[in-house]
Amino acid sequence: MADNAPINGKPSNKIVANGSWSKGGTSPRSAVPPTPLPTPDPNAISGLIGKAKSLIDSYASRGVTQNKRVDEAVKQVRILSCHGNPELGISPCQGRRESVAEAGRYFCGECGCGDRAATWLNNKTDEDYSKLDFPRVSCPMNMPGFTNYTERSKETVERCMKYDFTRKEQIERHIALTIKQTDAPSV
Ligand code: SF4
Repeated sequence: MADNAPINGKPSNKIVANGSWSKGGTSPRSAVPPTPLPTPDPNAISGLIGKAKSLIDSYASRGVTQNKRVDEAVKQVRILSCHGNPELGISPCQGRRESVAEAGRYFCGECGCGDRAATWLNNKTDEDYSKLDFPRVSCPMNMPGFTNYTERSKETVERCMKYDFTRKEQIERHIALTIKQTDAPSV
């Protein structure tokens, strides 16, 4: 019997030369295309690399044994950036979160560093070493006092759509005013 001879009046199936399964002379069935693998998001990858770099930079600035701390004046600006100041009418940062790990602590919900002692944004004792004590430390909103600080006027449209930089303006005005008052000649 021929390879494609009819069986019970119906044409039989056969394998054609290209390896596809054919039904009695009809066109070959096309192969099912493989499911494409998801393409990694380059922005997500570069974001992760950026976070890792800034974390390494922060730990290097602390020193292995010396526990170096940032200048106190800079730390006060960072405190204002993260926690605000009700007396100055500056609210806490939109990225600040209350710690679940320890009551009375805060951490940054924007940077992805998590809720743990090394990333808390406040000290309870002089011995505590918080995120704001690192000589070099980055802020996702590039707020005043942080190593990657960017002036409000230089923020991009995309970032202005993502973040409310009203607080940044308030803090910049407050710092400018403080510097002016400090520099004013005494009479
Ligand atoms: S985004 Fe910056 S200013 Fe806001 S909580 Fe995080 S580190 Fe602090």
